[in-house]
Formats: sequence, structure tokens, C-alpha cells
Amino acid sequence: MTDLESSIQFLPGVGPKRAELIARELGVGTLGELIRIYPFRYVDRSRITPIAAIDSCAAAIQIRARVVRATLYGQGSAVIARNEFSPDGSLVSRTLARETVNGVPRQQGPDGAVIKFNLVKRLAVLVDDGSGRIEMVFFKGIKWSWTQLSGGGEFVFFGKPQQFNGNYSIVHPEVDRPQGTAAAAGGLTGVYPSTEKLKTGGVTGKVMCRLQAAALEACLPLVRESLPQYLIDSLGLCSLQSALRNIHFPKDARSLEMAQYRLKFEELFFLQLSLLKAKYIRSRSECGIAMPLVGDAFRKCYDALPYKLTGAQQRVVKEMFADMKSGRQMNRLLQGDVGSGKTMVAVLCCLIAHGNGCQSCIMAPTEVLARQHFDNISRYLAPTGVKCALLMGSTTAKERRPIHEGLADGSISIVVGTHALLEDPVVFKRLGLAVIDEQHRFGVDQRSRLWRKGPVLNGVQYAPHVLVMTATPIPRTLAMTLYGDLDVSVIDEMPPGRKPVQTMCIGQNRKKALYNFMKKEIAAGHQVFVVFPMIFDNEKVDMQNLERGYDEICDAFPLKDGYKVAIVHGKQSAEEKQFNMSAFAAGRANILVATTVIEVGVDVPNASVMVIESAQRFGLSQLHQLRGRVGRGSDAAYCILVKDVKTGKDAQERLDLMCSTENGFEIAEADMKLRGPGDLEGTQQSGLPFELSIASLSKDGRLLEQAREVASKVLDADPALEQPRNAVLVRELRKDKYNIKDYSKIS
Ligand code: ADP
Ligand code: MG
Repeated sequence: MTDLESSIQFLPGVGPKRAELIARELGVGTLGELIRIYPFRYVDRSRITPIAAIDSCAAAIQIRARVVRATLYGQGSAVIARNEFSPDGSLVSRTLARETVNGVPRQQGPDGAVIKFNLVKRLAVLVDDGSGRIEMVFFKGIKWSWTQLSGGGEFVFFGKPQQFNGNYSIVHPEVDRPQGTAAAAGGLTGVYPSTEKLKTGGVTGKVMCRLQAAALEACLPLVRESLPQYLIDSLGLCSLQSALRNIHFPKDARSLEMAQYRLKFEELFFLQLSLLKAKYIRSRSECGIAMPLVGDAFRKCYDALPYKLTGAQQRVVKEMFADMKSGRQMNRLLQGDVGSGKTMVAVLCCLIAHGNGCQSCIMAPTEVLARQHFDNISRYLAPTGVKCALLMGSTTAKERRPIHEGLADGSISIVVGTHALLEDPVVFKRLGLAVIDEQHRFGVDQRSRLWRKGPVLNGVQYAPHVLVMTATPIPRTLAMTLYGDLDVSVIDEMPPGRKPVQTMCIGQNRKKALYNFMKKEIAAGHQVFVVFPMIFDNEKVDMQNLERGYDEICDAFPLKDGYKVAIVHGKQSAEEKQFNMSAFAAGRANILVATTVIEVGVDVPNASVMVIESAQRFGLSQLHQLRGRVGRGSDAAYCILVKDVKTGKDAQERLDLMCSTENGFEIAEADMKLRGPGDLEGTQQSGLPFELSIASLSKDGRLLEQAREVASKVLDADPALEQPRNAVLVRELRKDKYNIKDYSKIS
């Protein structure tokens, strides 16, 4: 009896070896798992493309054509064997090379002799369909393809055309006899995810289709519905069985759409349900430290502010205070574009904690940034008398001791620092709030260490309130999923008086004009950033470019004319970096040549120009972050993107977008669409805490919101999922796929 748990090994055409290959490459071992591997694309196999109509942006196409010539090439493109055919399909000539290469004969004997396939590097098959010719190329599985094609005749080829030296070719097409195509099966054929190993192991697209058909045949009726009937009815979804059948073998376009909708919804719904459920549970069980008071220090600081808080800042502070006094633990993400004034908000929250007898820590990703926070925060705190310390990796043992003591006895109320704060000797008397700036630099693990530094009150370990701040405007859909159980506050208003940053993109040939422009700005008393890329896998070359760029700028802005140029990069020691950075911040240098170490946070209001070299190599969010470094003063600011000659189409698109908008959220959305969410800055290191098999965060944003709403309604009505009608949800949530690591707790 086969069921969903049966091994794929028992499918026709799959033995232990293939089963193992499939398990290794696709991670599936049972029939139930196999049918959850969906096609990622569909092709209309009823459509044949004439060769003359091929264009470069075509996806996979189908061609029906005759073999004109099949050639086996060896080392250095020497011909090993070649068969040529006339238009009517008869063999015209047959060549077998007799020369040797490095003394090794490429073949032996006369016509029909054995070809030494281990010497063959490539098989090229030229085909003709009457409208034109195109070459099919094989680097692997050559013997098999030669057997199939070298006798000539008409075939159907399926694959993605590529352009090479002005000619089109298809590498490793699927090959079929004309009558054997899927045209009869109604047109739409799924294309499954595959790997080179699968293909060479014989598990081609065609084989995969056959396996899926056999698997569905064997066990589709056993697939249990995963959503409660009341949801299926109210949302107008198709049944799971119907969805699975049509996702693999669509009856027609409409059925496919219904199937995709149902499966995407299901996936996003369970993801949201599991995140929101964790939040419900936590909000009931985890006690937060209640902070009902505002306190004197808060008022003193507030009254002494040199400016009025923006409406958005006020609203956000209120939201946090509501959390902090609630008796539940705050777990909040604060999003605000660069320069929107997040620091002030963080300080006010720390003062609330202080007013309730609690300490706070503020963690920054780099020492430069931590120091800058410390300087700013100390200024804000001056009127309050609240004690603040700075603790980083470079803090000496001698300086550390009093800080450790002050934190342990509670005399230091706020500590600013880097990862050093997470070290074991750092013990707080009563840590009530942890502020994490630019969270994406902190891993999940580090966050949990912070978590454990909370106070033990009456024998119970309390987690500090957590405020995560980010200037990377995470698109809403991604935030909802990544931080499904986190509350999100947004500062969507800039402090008054900020000027828009004029952005333009220029070529290398305009350097001279650029330098003249920089000189004008410097003459007007402003400062200039010049940023070079420093990308991990290209570090050496990047370093050379940076040094060359620095020399060039020093030449163009010589000391004898009164110019001072500073340089900051990751290879410098912390002190050197700090020294050069401060020189620029204090106005002692006119130009700061730097790598992206200045990306986050650094605040030099007098800097009016941001020049970004090889701008095409930066990601959108990075460009946006860098641009946010200027325009902080009240004078006009400029961002100049200098691109290299070889700037690709995608890169140009990014640069154009930068020139057309300053809206960080718009940029983040576009970034996600261009790169896909997995690559989005901030998720790269930690990785998404779950895998999506059919839904896409960048494309299915609306559906995600809908899924979240439905999940939230289900939980509102039945928080513990105890009602019989929701039993099926409980069963489904137990699956590994929806067990999102520890993530929900520690973000
Ligand atoms: P973020 O961390 O969000 O990028 P900061 O907190 O560093 O932004 O603030 C940027 C600048 O704006 C700082 O110089 C800060 O003093 C100033 N600022 C913050 N809030 C206001 C406000 N309400 N009005 C005027 N200036 C403000
Ligand atoms: Mg900041």
C-alpha cells in the first residue's frame, strides 16, 4: 500500500540510486514531500517558436527543427567527428578525424569506429526549421545526446536561447521526438526546480513530470485538507487536492491561477499564524518590567531640547511609553529614514527607564557609531545629571573597571557600546531597556545574550524591554514576516529644515567638472565625502582603487592650496579610524575619502556633497544610506553618483531610481523587487528564518497582508486554537516548516 509516507523509491523508474540523488538534491524522500515540490514556471508546450523569431530576452522556448550537422569537438575545438545531412534528412557526409593530439589518437579505425568520448569536450548540433538555424550545445551527457541526434531527423528542442558571439544557441536543451511532446496534455507544462546533478543523473524535467504524475496517482486522494472548511468557504479557495493536481498539471490557465492562489495563501497564512500565535502567548505569559512613571530626568531633558520633537517622534515616544508601562515586555521595531531623529527617541525611552529605577544599554554596530551616539547622548543628558558610559572593544582594562562597577551597582544609568556590552563580565544591576541600533548587524544569538542580561526579580528572570532601531527601510511585507511578532513604529516625518539632496549620475569623463564643483563647495565652507566600494570578494582590487582614488584626490586638492584630505577604511586600526573620522567631523579636513564604514549613522551636518565612486557596484539600500549622510545641515546638498563605463542595465536602473526619488521606502521596495528578499541587506547574515516554497515576499505583498488579517481574526476568535473547527490548524502548525526557530522570542 502506498501512502504519503512511502518512499519515492517505489515510483516507476526510481531505484535506490535515483531516490538518493533526488533526496540529496531536492530534500525530498516521500511521495507526500515530492508533490509539494512545485513547478516554478510553466511553458506553453503547444507553442513552437520559429528560429527566425528568437530574441535575446526570450525565456525557454520550443523549437521544432531538423538536424543539419552534428559535431563532436575535442580539445581546442578540433573536430573529432561530424555528420552532415541534406534538407531531406539523408546523410551527406561523415567525418572522423584521424590526427592525433599530443600523441593520443582521437579515434581509431575507419567509418563506424569507436569514438573516444572521454576526449570529447562538446557536442554541437546545428538545426534548421526552414526559417533559420540555431545550434544546440552539450557539454555533458554527450554520448547519450550523440546517439540520439547524430543520425539526423526532426526533433523538438526545449530550452533557453543564449547569445554568443552574435549567434543564438541553446545549451543542454530537452530533446523530444515531435509526436512525443506534451502538446496533447493541454499546453501548460510545469518546469521544476532542478540541478545539474539531477539532469546528469537522468532526472530531467520530463522525468520529473512523470514522477509527479505517478505520485499524484498514488496518493492524491490521501492528502488531507489543511485549512478549515469555514475558511475555504469564506475565502473562496479551491480544495488542497484540486490545488495540488492543478499546480502540477494545470487543466487550464484559470485552474492554475486558483491553485497558485490557494497554495500561496496557505503558506503565508500558516507563517503568520505561527508568528502571531507566538506573540499572543508571549503577551500573556512574559511579564515585562512595569514602568509607569515618566520621571524628572525625562522632563528636564525634554524641556532643554534645542528643538521641538516632530509629530512623528512624539507619537512614537507615546507608543513606546504605552508599551513600557503596560507590564508586558516591549518588543518594538522603530523604523525611520536616516536623519529622522531616532536617537532622540531612544534617549527619551532610556530616561523613562531611568525614571523607574532601571538601566538601559544602547548597542551600535561599530565603534565609530557608538562613540558618536555617546557624544550626542551625553549632550542630551547634560541637563539631567544622568550618568552615561561608553564601553567598546577598544576600551582599556583600566577604563573598564569603573564602568563594570558602575553598571553592577547601578550608578551608571545608561551605557552605550558595541558587542563588548554582551561580554560576560558586563553585569547590570537592573537592566530595563535594550536599544539596538541598526539591528541587522546583530545576529540572533547575540540578541539572546542581551536578553539574558535582564534582572532577576523575586526569582523570576525578566527580559528587558527591547527597542530595535533601523534606518534600512524594510519593506512592509518583509517587516511583517521577519518581525511578525514585533510591534512596528515608524517615524515618517523628517525634522524641519532639511533640504532635499540633489542627486545626479555622471561618467568618469566628468571628473574634472566634479572636482571644480567640489572646490566651489569647499570654498563656501562645506565638506565633501568621497566613497569607494569595498566588497568582500574583491577586497584587494578595491583597496588598490581606494588608494589610487585617494592619491588622485590629494593631487587635485593639494595641501599647498590649503586643502586637507582624510581617509578612513576598514583596514585601519580603531584609533586611526577614530582620529581621521573626528578630524573630518570637527572640520579639520575638507574631504573624507572613505569606504562604506561611514554608511551608518555618522553625522557631519556641515558636509554637503556625497560623491560615490563606482556607484553601479552598490546596492540601492546602501546608496540610500550613504546619501543620507548629507543634507543634514540647512544648506543645499548633493549626491553625485560616478559610474564606470561598463555599467550594466540593472545597475543603470538602480542609479536612475536613486536620481528620481529620495523616499527610502520606495527604494527599499524597488530593491527587494530587483534583488529578491533573501539578498536584502539585513537578512543576508541571519537568513530568513523560514523558507517559502511558492509565495514570494516581493511579489505577493497584498496576499501576505490578507493572510495576516485572516490569521489575526482566527486568533482573536480563538486565541489558543481550542475550537474543534480549528483543530486542523493545530495539526498543520506542528509541521517543521512552520516552526520558526527561536526567532519570535529574541528579535
Ligand atoms: P537617525 O539616527 O534617525 O538617522 P539622528 O537621531 O542622528 O537621526 O538625527 C539626525 C539629526 O537631526 C541630528 O543632528 C539631530 O540632532 C537632529 N534632530 C533630531 N530630531 C530633531 C527635531 N525634532 N528637530 C530638529 N532636529 C532634529
Ligand atoms: Mg542613527
